[in-house]
Amino acid sequence: MAANKVTQEANRKRAGEVLERLMETYPDARCSLDFKDPLQLLVATILAAQCTDERVNLTTPSLFKRYKTPKDYVAAPDEELQEAVRSCGFYRQKAKAIQRACQTIVERFDGVVPGTMEDLLQLEGVGRKTANVLLGECFGTPGIIVDTHCKRVSARLGFTKSAEPGKIEQDLMRLLPEERWTEFSHCLVFHGRATCQARAPQCSRCCVRDLCPFPDSREGKKVAR
Ligand code: SF4
Repeated sequence: MAANKVTQEANRKRAGEVLERLMETYPDARCSLDFKDPLQLLVATILAAQCTDERVNLTTPSLFKRYKTPKDYVAAPDEELQEAVRSCGFYRQKAKAIQRACQTIVERFDGVVPGTMEDLLQLEGVGRKTANVLLGECFGTPGIIVDTHCKRVSARLGFTKSAEPGKIEQDLMRLLPEERWTEFSHCLVFHGRATCQARAPQCSRCCVRDLCPFPDSREGKKVAR
């Protein structure tokens, strides 16, 4: 068997074990944004860029009460919508992205949030990360969600050598069966927040310490971020 095939097999086995342990450690690992339908999740994910999910969850109840359909967002006066999302930061850009995405939903998708990657990518402010969140949470289509935690933790675990989100997504997709992609993504996020933090990973108390090459490679070497 070729060497890279052996490595890939070993990585698959290791990824399976990592996922089992992370699921035991974080039984509540799931999307942390509050939502009741695809439109609410779409809006919440746009607001979550460079903002905490907790902050978004404090902002969205009143927002969702006021705007219930894509047409409601499109019709909202700019300043009114900006004010409603101000606490999430970058409020002008985010309000505009929400309105443009909703405009496209109204014009091309009959006012209904579409449920395929191809269609979701047509919406302003929606990249593969957001699309995979929506597909996994609302449409039963699993996907790898490459956010900052996923990038850092998967690199430290040696599951990818790339810094490019599209390549990371492909690398992780090869490690696990499709039906596990969304839960794997959520587990990496929870682990990144609770233990494998950017500046000070808690390797000594990490549940996958023995499966991770990062602590042993750390001394005298560059830290993966
Ligand atoms: S051992 Fe350290 S670097 Fe590896 S996953 Fe755990 S906390 Fe992160």
